[in-house]
Amino acid sequence: MTGRPTRVSRDVKAGCETCWPGTAKWFGGQAQGTAAQHFDKTGHATWCEVYMHVSYGGAPKKTAPGVSPAAARAFVGLPPKVR
Ligand SMILES: [Zn+2]
Repeated sequence: MTGRPTRVSRDVKAGCETCWPGTAKWFGGQAQGTAAQHFDKTGHATWCEVYMHVSYGGAPKKTAPGVSPAAARAFVGLPPKVR
């Protein structure tokens, strides 16, 4: 352990080239799995893009631009916040 405060957030989006060409349809932590399953079911070519933001030290930041807190928590394996 370095004691280095590290923050990682990710934004994930995915889509299908046949059903929604050029447009993302799925977002957040389940997007990649959904794209894979859609390919398995339909044979359609699907894609997934991941934006990752990493910071070391500094003040706590809510999320990277465009990243929903829920998506970032889900992607790194944290449960949704309980309200
Ligand atoms: Zn499709």
